[in-house]
Amino acid sequence: MKKFFEEFKKFALKGNVMDMAIGVIIGAAFGAIVTSLTDSFINPLINSIGGAEVAGTIKLPWVDYTGLDAEAATALSLNYGAFITAIINFVIIALILFIMIKAMNKLMSIGKKKKEEEEVVTTKICPFCKSEIAIDATRCPHCTSNLEEE
Ligand SMILES: [Zn+2]
Repeated sequence: MKKFFEEFKKFALKGNVMDMAIGVIIGAAFGAIVTSLTDSFINPLINSIGGAEVAGTIKLPWVDYTGLDAEAATALSLNYGAFITAIINFVIIALILFIMIKAMNKLMSIGKKKKEEEEVVTTKICPFCKSEIAIDATRCPHCTSNLEEE
């Protein structure tokens, strides 16, 4: 079970999970634009030809310019307000994700730097007595062998 969590930690920290999550979120946000495009422009166009009722506007969170539709509605009702709303929401979502990823990358690079600093080699093995000694030692403190290279 411990190995399972270790593997999961490795997998999660690789960035694959974050990349996938971003893909899903961006995909969903872009899907909203496509839906809005259809609902706001394509459906009304089709309906105006067919004479059917104009499709209702869709409401998205955070930003709502659907009020624009009332002014825009003339002969042909194109709900571009909802479409603009979808685009703005997409930009906001992308921006938030970008900021999040930037912060995460910064955190991860700090972690990496620390690790690298810890991994800096400061010791070597004496070829005579196999003891661990300082890397710049010219004489082994254990066996007093001369380590100076010729
Ligand atoms: Zn030695």
